[in-house]
Amino acid sequence: MLKVASLVFNPFQENTYLLYDETGACAIVDPGCYEREETETLAGHIASNNLNVVILLNTHCHIDHVLGNAFVKNRFRVPLYVHRLEEPYLRAVASYASNYGFFHYEDSSPDAFLTDNQIVEFGNQKLNVLFTPGHSPGHVAFYHEESRKLLGGDVLFYNSIGRTDLPGGNSEKLLESISKRFFTLPDSVTVLPGHGPETSIGYEKKTNPYCGLTVK
Ligand SMILES: [Zn+2]
Ligand SMILES: [Zn+2]
Repeated sequence: MLKVASLVFNPFQENTYLLYDETGACAIVDPGCYEREETETLAGHIASNNLNVVILLNTHCHIDHVLGNAFVKNRFRVPLYVHRLEEPYLRAVASYASNYGFFHYEDSSPDAFLTDNQIVEFGNQKLNVLFTPGHSPGHVAFYHEESRKLLGGDVLFYNSIGRTDLPGGNSEKLLESISKRFFTLPDSVTVLPGHGPETSIGYEKKTNPYCGLTVK
């Protein structure tokens, strides 16, 4: 059975997710840890639950989601998976990290590329990769069908949606991603977003002021 732990890191209050199951195999999604205290919190959670980290996934490569990539890759010797269209944005982070005060940002590079509808496996778990551009060009979400949990990144938030004013953002594509890939999932699906509290597909369909009315 899938277990999910979420940790909030960095000044952007980014949600880092640890996914694991009874085998101990663990996938880390969007490690935002930066300060030593944060990386120790992440490593401590893994050690105290006897987890074996096997894969590192990024929904997209904005700075707040990738600050801990190098730490996770180095500490656990695991491959980093991102969508190919995010690679230039990952490479760009080193050029602007200091503007946000991250003077010790360590660069990381992908080891493999994610594609739409790909199945990512770890332990006994399967995640379905949903290509959901708009907030960024190569944004993906990870859907765990068995538990009806969606790691949604910065696409859909509790009563809000991802911003589209950053380089490569596109509001039409974002709304299309929400209506065609998120709102076609069962209402009972829990959305675990990149920021803020969890929500559900059904709740956002009814109440979200940005996209509720545009969806048929
Ligand atoms: Zn973002
Ligand atoms: Zn974010």
